[in-house]
Order: sequence, then C-alpha cells, then structure tokens
Amino acid sequence: MTPAPYAASDKTSRGRRYQETAPAHRGEYQRDRDRIIHCAAFRRLEYKTQVFVNHEGDLFRTRLTHSIEVAQIGRSIARALGLNEDLTEAIALAHDLGHTPFGHSGQEALNQCMRDHGGFEHNLQSLRVVDVLEERYAEFPGLNLTYETREGILKHCSLKKAAELGELGRRFLEKKQPGLEAQLVNLADEIAYNNHDVDDGLRSGLLNIDQLCNVALFLEQYMKVGQAYPHLAPRRRIYETIRRMINRVVTDVIETSRRLLTESGVQHIDEVRDHPRQLITYSEEIRRKINDLKNFLKNNLYTHEKVSQMSSEAVKIIHELFAVFMQAPHLLPAQYQDKIRDSGAGGMARGGALEGSAPGKARIIGDYIAGMTDRYAIREHARLCQARETA
Ligand code: MG
Repeated sequence: MTPAPYAASDKTSRGRRYQETAPAHRGEYQRDRDRIIHCAAFRRLEYKTQVFVNHEGDLFRTRLTHSIEVAQIGRSIARALGLNEDLTEAIALAHDLGHTPFGHSGQEALNQCMRDHGGFEHNLQSLRVVDVLEERYAEFPGLNLTYETREGILKHCSLKKAAELGELGRRFLEKKQPGLEAQLVNLADEIAYNNHDVDDGLRSGLLNIDQLCNVALFLEQYMKVGQAYPHLAPRRRIYETIRRMINRVVTDVIETSRRLLTESGVQHIDEVRDHPRQLITYSEEIRRKINDLKNFLKNNLYTHEKVSQMSSEAVKIIHELFAVFMQAPHLLPAQYQDKIRDSGAGGMARGGALEGSAPGKARIIGDYIAGMTDRYAIREHARLCQARETA
C-alpha cells in the first residue's frame, strides 16, 4: 500500500538530535527499530513483567512478548491505514523500555523513593534509556533516534517535566497531538494488554469464565464461538474468543480512524499535530466497552489478593534496595559508582530526570534499579538486604 500523505516519512522527519548520514539500505525508522532491538534494555524486557512476576510460570506474558504483541497489532492497523509501519514498530518495541521490575507496583515504589529527587515516571525513563542510558555508539550518547520515535515513546508527561524537555515537550504545553503512528501505538498497547490479561488471568485461575461473562466485549464473542463450535474444548474456546475480541477492536479502530481521517482533510503530519483531536481512535461504543473491560480487570485481577501480595513484596524490595544503595553507594556496580563520582560532591543536589541537568546520586541509583529485571532485583535484594537482616 502506498503511504498516506499524513503518514510519517523520512522526507518530513524532524530528524535526529545528532546529525548522521542517511542509511544506505534502510529507511530512518527501520534504523530506529534496529537500534532498539540491539540495545540491552530491550533484552531485559524478557525478564520484566506487568502483572505476574517472571518466575510464576513460563506461559505468562513478559514485557518482551507484550511489546511484540503491541508491534503486531500496531503494524496491522498501520498497514490498513497507510501509516508508517516501521515507525509504528519502532515505537511499539521501545514503549516499555523504561519500566522498572515488578510492573506498576515497582514503578510506584520507585516513584516514592525518588519523591524528593525529581520523581520517577516510566515514560520519561523510556526516553532517558534511548536518549542517554544506552551507551553503544561512538559518535553520540544514547541511540540517537528520530524525533518521531521519541515523540511516540513519550506518550504523556507532566507540564513541569514538559517545560524542561524543549522541543519534544512542547506539544504537552501547547496541547497538540503527536503523529498518527504515536497515537496508534497508544491504542495498540491498550488492546494488547486488555486482551492478554484476560488470557493470563484465566490461565492463572485468578479470573473465571462466569465473572468474565459480565463483560460485554468478552460475552459477545464467547457466545458466538459457543454457537458456532458447540463441542470445542474449553481452552480453545477461550483462545478463539480472545482472538475475536482483538479482531473486533482492531477492525473498529481501522474503520473509525479511516472515517475521521477523511473527514478531517489532513494532508500532512504537521496538520495531524495541529488538529484539535486525536484521529486514531475507537468508536464511542467500543470505547465504552473497553472501559468496562479495564474496570473489570482493575477490580478483579490487578487488585486480586494474590497479585496484591506479590505487589507488596515488590514494593518492599524496591524500597529496601534504594535505601541500601543510598546509604552505601560502594555496593553499586563500578560504573554506577563512577557516575556518582563524576556527578560531583556525591551528586546530592539535583534530581536530573532529564538530559541537561547533571544526574544526582538518587537518579543514578534510580536508573540502576529501574534497569533491573524481576529476578535480578530479587537476587540483589536477597544478597544485600536479607543478609543484613540476619547478620
Ligand atoms: Mg505497554
């Protein structure tokens, strides 16, 4: 399919922060995607989780498989709408790079630890990973990704942080939109986790079919599958239902967005950015149903007693690790100790979540903890904190 005029393209790109010669055999966004796949933070996604801790079972989603599902859903929609598939894929594969171990509870715990040091926010951290923390190239810090990929990674941010971010933060202050590929990955992320959390929730036994039959999106497809295949084994009926749920929502996004794009008359990515509303979206009906599903998952899965037990353990681990390293930075790996030394005077003064301000000790420790996988954090905690408790 020929790209639509409002899709991102190498020609209209706002470019990279450090100028580079154009790639010979790839597009600019292909290069972004390739750099993301080769970075260390991407490999760590394999051992980080969103809801279930990594060692709970081999069948649950990890942040890596989640990101691949987001890329798959994103590319399907991008292709149908004539958007840039490479950019969509690059944003999808990078969107979770800044996540801490242990999902949302890990992020909240680290945010609490960093409260007096500029706070911790995973979107901002994903940007920090690709802009600063990945040190792999001779000629520039970070991965030097294009503006459009970075715009997609920074899906939201506080106005205070936006003001510190320069060009990339301006859209939050001016209330403008990101490009269509960024809007799309945002939805693909939501579609992926809502559906795979139903699947993982059922497999774990924390959710059951009777409960899910209160959710319209699930019930509609579950009944249709039951009518069409009355003798299907229960697990296959669930898989077939979830497959159809994803298809239902993806089809809705494609049809709704196609209509909005035509009605809006946008012809260029800059017109997309200036448009008063997002053009990649669900219909009202599907949005309502998705909200019901999200509420259901919140009330029945994310706050399930078993998940909460794991979460409070995770919170304890993050808090204790942070306290240990703040008190005894010599326990950090050598390169982090060097960073603290380079930041001067123990780097106590400044938070430095963003580039341009020197990172302080707390920020460097925050970076180290955020980069940990679930199992690494558990091991480090056992080694550094539990040994002390029993000493
Ligand atoms: Mg995600």
